Amino acid sequence: MAAAIIDGKAFAARLRARVAAAVPAFADAAGRVPGLAVVLVGDDPASAVYVRAKARMTAEAGMAGFEHRLPAATDQAALLDLVRRLNADPAVDGILVQLPLPGHVDEAAVIAAIDPAKDVDGFTPENAGRLATGLPGFVPCTPLGCLMLLKDRLGDLAGLDAVVIGRSNIVGKPMARLLLAESCTVTVAHSRTRDLPAAIGRADIVVAAVGRPAMVQAAWLKPGATVIDVGINRIDAGDGRTMLVGDVDPAAADVAGAITPVPGGVGPMTIAVLLRNTLVAAHRRAGIPLADATL
Ligand code: NAD
Repeated sequence: MAAAIIDGKAFAARLRARVAAAVPAFADAAGRVPGLAVVLVGDDPASAVYVRAKARMTAEAGMAGFEHRLPAATDQAALLDLVRRLNADPAVDGILVQLPLPGHVDEAAVIAAIDPAKDVDGFTPENAGRLATGLPGFVPCTPLGCLMLLKDRLGDLAGLDAVVIGRSNIVGKPMARLLLAESCTVTVAHSRTRDLPAAIGRADIVVAAVGRPAMVQAAWLKPGATVIDVGINRIDAGDGRTMLVGDVDPAAADVAGAITPVPGGVGPMTIAVLLRNTLVAAHRRAGIPLADATL
């Protein structure tokens, strides 16, 4: 039987609508709308596309967007100075520094300079530690979006076997921590894993975050598994154009119970969760309870 398609695009649109619906009550109570500052250094074309989409959806949600575009040659001191100014700006609830930063900048130092209360990407050591130890904080947007899709599909995840392929700070590690917090039995696979097919074959949940087209083969999956494909890979479509594909072989749809498509699966969730995190940051900073506690 063909797998159910997990419609991340539709889920993300509903989440953005719920965020937008919560903005007027915050504005009434706080006397201002939530604000998200985005910092883009250099002219990486993929980053520019993401930043444009973020700006558009921030405005659509009724929030204030503050965009800071800096030349590629911007030095570390200037960047740290901007982060400090954004930390101190009362109109800014969320700060997002678009990665990757140019090679001459110490990315870790810039991220660590962000006020954890405004770290809506969840990348600061403070928020990573909070996730690791089960304290409230901000969780990286992409893995939190994956968890929302999994819970929507499967309900209670307790006791399920989960494999996360990839161990980056942005996706793999926080994804594994989130699944552990849901009481899954979690295996984190990575480039040095010896027997990836065996690990995947045991899994009720597979989250692929590698960045290699179709590397997860259909034959490796346990029939009925739920597959979340985080990969975004641009490949040659053969007619001179490029197309987007995930990390999972499309034939997996014949074996899995449910699967996210690429595009239209995990991708749209990231910005929707970013807006959700910004709304939450605004409420926490203003000391106003969020009316919709399920957000
Ligand atoms: P990364 O390059 O930082 O990490 C890739 C991980 O894959 C590494 O931990 C590595 O150990 C692992 N890996 C490499 N080869 C492997 C192999 N043969 N077997 C098992 N594991 C292997 O990448 P990332 O930032 O975590 O992103 C992963 C993918 O997710 C990319 O395609 C990226 O574009 C995509 N992504 C999508 C979104 C989104 O949907 N919004 C957000 C972030 C990343």
